[in-house]
Amino acid sequence: MIWNEEIETMSRGDIEALQSERLVKLAAYVYDRVPFYKQAFDEAGVSPADVKSIDDVTKLPFTTKEQMRASYPFKMFAVPMNQVIRTHASSGTTGKPTVVGYTRNDIDVWAECVARCFGLSGAKPGDIFQNAYGYGLFTGGLGMHYGAELMGLNTIPVSGGNTARQMLLLQDFQTNIMACTPSYSLTLADALLGAGIDPADLPVRSFILGAEPWTDVMRAEIEQKLHADAVNIYGLSEIMGPGVSNECIEAKDGMHLMEDHFLCEIIDPETGNPVAEGEVGELVITTLTKEAIPLIRYRTKDLCSITTEKCVCGRTHARMSRILGRADDMLIIRGVNVFPSQIEATMLGMEELSPHYKLILSRKDRLDTLEIQPEVSEDFFRAVDGLDGLKNSPLAKGLQAEIEKQMKESLLVGAKVTLIAPGTAPRSEGGKIKRLEDQR
Ligand code: ADP
Ligand code: ZN
Repeated sequence: MIWNEEIETMSRGDIEALQSERLVKLAAYVYDRVPFYKQAFDEAGVSPADVKSIDDVTKLPFTTKEQMRASYPFKMFAVPMNQVIRTHASSGTTGKPTVVGYTRNDIDVWAECVARCFGLSGAKPGDIFQNAYGYGLFTGGLGMHYGAELMGLNTIPVSGGNTARQMLLLQDFQTNIMACTPSYSLTLADALLGAGIDPADLPVRSFILGAEPWTDVMRAEIEQKLHADAVNIYGLSEIMGPGVSNECIEAKDGMHLMEDHFLCEIIDPETGNPVAEGEVGELVITTLTKEAIPLIRYRTKDLCSITTEKCVCGRTHARMSRILGRADDMLIIRGVNVFPSQIEATMLGMEELSPHYKLILSRKDRLDTLEIQPEVSEDFFRAVDGLDGLKNSPLAKGLQAEIEKQMKESLLVGAKVTLIAPGTAPRSEGGKIKRLEDQR
């Protein structure tokens, strides 16, 4: 079903007129209310009066994640704190998260966007929805939750993990729609098959999958194993959370953007210039209706393309491709963002280690697994008597356990640590250092 027929099937001309009207208001709103934007506009030599339509968006300055982080925790808020009714945060490179706030209207808009996503994914009022996105500071769980309730789904807030319980609910509650990460859907498929449960016997029709990159090859495997549709959902907490875009089940060919709320551009990440329609570049989003933390031209670092071509489903909102990569070195491990600089910061100051390390990403039991291989210092290597001691001595094991504990605390996702000998981690040979080995 199309949740909001009037908005989702508007003519392109009407969408763009609505976007222009909202952008004009937004420019004045952020200039008046957020000192950060007043300064950024002034520095760029642009005033709100220069913004007359969406064609003028390129005159406006970009906003980066680094700037958001520097405004920690509340400096970019455009409303008094007593109008903020929810705060979420996502993990960041320095250990300080990026904080996002929502007014009541922001929460309503978010729920509306997510309700559209459910429509796009083949859900209908009355369906039973098992929400296996994590509840908490991450936007995934609660973001999906409010949209599901708005549509009138029977929402089961089971949260992430605990595969045995997920399987029990799938069977006993007769779930129709489930949301989780794509990698987790395969873990679940294998667990079901391993327990002798045939997914074809379950009434679950659609899996709404996002928060991490995946491929059409994975989709084929998920759909075949789970006997259900697998649709892609995209979002990021800085902009809102899940529900910025979602594929339609009819075409499964690009994610329809909620264009009445988000003005999207694709730029060349090097030059900052717009690229031609259909070309791959960095997705840049301006929030057209957000009240608490409106963002101008936010650099998502996500690489994709956008098309405004007609879609078979009848919706007119533009579609973005799958995320094809990142313009920075962020890793996404089981839905959690991890930057190598975060790993570095955690290891820094441990005198047993050298500043060099290697990262190995692999896929075990369908789940992405991160292994960190920090190089120990010469002194430590001597203290454990060389390679054997590095593997087996209680001293080395203690250090390894300590690093694993600290990584878990700072990255919010577990990583295996294997100590390696001095001089064995990759060194830069002048160019960009390649610390990551991706075995997936
Ligand atoms: P989350 O809590 O879901 O991790 P974040 O805001 O921390 O949300 O992370 C958002 C990032 O996750 C995006 O910028 C993008 O890189 C990635 N992401 C989200 N959804 C998808 C998707 N469907 N495909 C690929 N990457 C995704
Ligand atoms: Zn469509």
